[in-house]
Amino acid sequence: MKPYNYQNEPTRDILFIDCKSFYASVECIERGLDPMDTMLVVMSKAENAGGLVLAASPKAKKVLGISNVSRKHEIPDHPDLIIAPPRMALYIKKNLAIGNIIKSYVAEEDYYPYSIDESASDCTNSWHLFADSPWDLAVIIRDRIKQELGLVVTICLGDNPLLAKIGMDIEAKKNPDFMAEWR
Ligand SMILES: [Mg+2]
Repeated sequence: MKPYNYQNEPTRDILFIDCKSFYASVECIERGLDPMDTMLVVMSKAENAGGLVLAASPKAKKVLGISNVSRKHEIPDHPDLIIAPPRMALYIKKNLAIGNIIKSYVAEEDYYPYSIDESASDCTNSWHLFADSPWDLAVIIRDRIKQELGLVVTICLGDNPLLAKIGMDIEAKKNPDFMAEWR
């Protein structure tokens, strides 16, 4: 098989943006708590043992070893753990607010929602209007979302949506500034 020549592929400036522990972070912020320093899980049907953890804050994941699909009976008792019922309408509202911030830097047709807390945006044609580089625009967007909504986002800049998504999941999430660039 002939090696594939990626030089022929289009090169864009794609920002893949994901909100860290989205549901759990929204619930922390609604309570006036720091989403990175609070133990909180969003749990459906918390009144019975089969209750399912839909989201856990980073600290809950770390301290209690909770994952997003843990069951209620797997959650250790901890005096600092907050259990919040899900509020989907609120999360949708916050998702739209994040989208509106992003769309103040990219055209509607360059914004691609991917899930309730992830999107890809093609800023190739617009970054120069707002920043010195696509990376600088990513920083502006990250900081505005934090400032206006309190939410921490991870962003990977890449040549195409696939590269940006993979870079986000593999590298950006682990970097201290929650950012990465994959070319
Ligand atoms: Mg997320």
